Amino acid sequence: MSTLASDAATRSDAAPARPGARRPYETRRTFAIISHPDAGKTTLTEKLLLSGGAIEMAGAVRSKGNGRRAKSDWMEIEKNRGISVTSSVMTFEKEGINFNLLDTPGHSDFSEDTYRTLTAVDSAIMVIDAAKGIEAQTKKLFEICRLRDIPIITFVNKVDREGRDPFEILDEIEAELALTVAPMVWPVGQGGLFKGCYDLAKNDFLFAGSDRTQHYAGGLDDPALRAALGESAYAGFRDAAELAQEGYAAFDPEAYRQGHLTPVIFGSALQNFAVDRLMDFIAEHAPEPRPQPSDRGPVDPSEEKVSGFVFKVQANMDPKHRDRVAFVRFCSGHFKRGMKLDHVRSGKPIAVSNPIYFVAQERALTEEAHAGDVIGIPNHGTLQVGDTLTEGESFRFTGLPAFAPEVLRRVRLADTMKMKQMRRGLEDLAQEGLVQVFRPTIGSDFIVGVVGPLQLDVLAARIAGEYKAEVSFEPVQYNVARWIRSNDERALKEFVRENTLNVVRDRDDWPVYLCKDEWDLRYIMSRNKDIAFDATREIV
Ligand code: GDP
Repeated sequence: MSTLASDAATRSDAAPARPGARRPYETRRTFAIISHPDAGKTTLTEKLLLSGGAIEMAGAVRSKGNGRRAKSDWMEIEKNRGISVTSSVMTFEKEGINFNLLDTPGHSDFSEDTYRTLTAVDSAIMVIDAAKGIEAQTKKLFEICRLRDIPIITFVNKVDREGRDPFEILDEIEAELALTVAPMVWPVGQGGLFKGCYDLAKNDFLFAGSDRTQHYAGGLDDPALRAALGESAYAGFRDAAELAQEGYAAFDPEAYRQGHLTPVIFGSALQNFAVDRLMDFIAEHAPEPRPQPSDRGPVDPSEEKVSGFVFKVQANMDPKHRDRVAFVRFCSGHFKRGMKLDHVRSGKPIAVSNPIYFVAQERALTEEAHAGDVIGIPNHGTLQVGDTLTEGESFRFTGLPAFAPEVLRRVRLADTMKMKQMRRGLEDLAQEGLVQVFRPTIGSDFIVGVVGPLQLDVLAARIAGEYKAEVSFEPVQYNVARWIRSNDERALKEFVRENTLNVVRDRDDWPVYLCKDEWDLRYIMSRNKDIAFDATREIV
């Protein structure tokens, strides 16, 4: 940890170690980990940071030794130091590649932030628990990735424990997510019989319980591999590995980059097993910064002028600083500290004199950044989610999604004299992305929608504190909201007319259909095949 400050201060854009000098942005890998709680995201993040040298462990974990020792050392140090990965962005560098790992808070505070963070990444790691397969939240997050064709590499975690049959997991990914799977690293045995993992592409065997990796030039039929595994483990493994190779798609970089195919690595975050393969894969195949959609067409990372967008705003990130930090993902150009950037929404320039970036838990001033990088800009509310910053241009980035809220409430105002203040507050906070506000076709009460109930508390507190209006929330008879649209204008109009009570308008006047539950939704969908009911919509 002691070296952090100096490391942090020297993030450099020196030419990459590999030959064939690349432009700085080409060495960026900006990605997130998506998973269901408990699948192992935190553990994997720590191992990635460790592997990237962002957490110095006094050699303990990286020392050669058996996996069990490494594991207990790690846990001890973790306990002593209380290391936890809570930053929104973690930047580390390995062999000339700059990794920007964006955190997606995935637990009970699950909110739109999580989703929006995914608009700022170029690829994602999907972590699945080998015993559980695809779980609810993984699927939700996956769907967001699909919206943007974000390439996904799958890490099936915890193979050191008794889990489900690997083929069952592959088939589940294929069936539930409609993705082609390409197994890359295959487990040998499970639980007590776990022997290690085999890299199907490179013909390397990673031995469990040690850092040893052995290359077998003869592949699956190499007698040395047979001898190393022992007859009984080898027999079962060989057949399975062959089926994994032949019964499934081979890795196709293009299909992966287009989001149609997911390579699958079986491994263990806790035992630091196959994590390096994962990192190597990201360095080699994960996309560099991709062109970002804007209202003047895609913005290419090679463009000279600086541009970026705010995908997240976090208040009071550090109680000592009591500030509000806007997280900006750069999409083009070479940003330097002190630069004046145009804040397109207000039309005013802002001087970015104290941009920060994040290494593990530390934050440091950064001198420069390239497309793909993420910095935090401390500010007092000027910067909002969805804002575009440019170097003298006036376009806006698009494609930041709004999500159908899962909690709907009617807003009650304590003092009707405060109507103006309340409206203003709702409007502003809807702009910031904290809440969605809907107007009924009939009646005047606002309905607000949030993804997580916590957001309601924040909303009430902020309207009271910042707009001096007391509001409370009442349940409504609706639990499901969907944006509606149709290619057939007349059909849509007709539908809205027939369902006046259930149709409300969002802040951009888009029609939204509210209903009691999923069952009702399915029913109404089955009777209105010409209407699309969308769970997401772009912020424009
Ligand atoms: P998160 O909620 O997704 O961030 O999950 P954590 O990283 O906190 O892990 C949840 C639990 O699974 C913890 O008790 C971890 O120690 C454990 N765990 C994580 N990875 C592995 C693994 O590879 N093998 C085993 N056996 N346990 C693991």
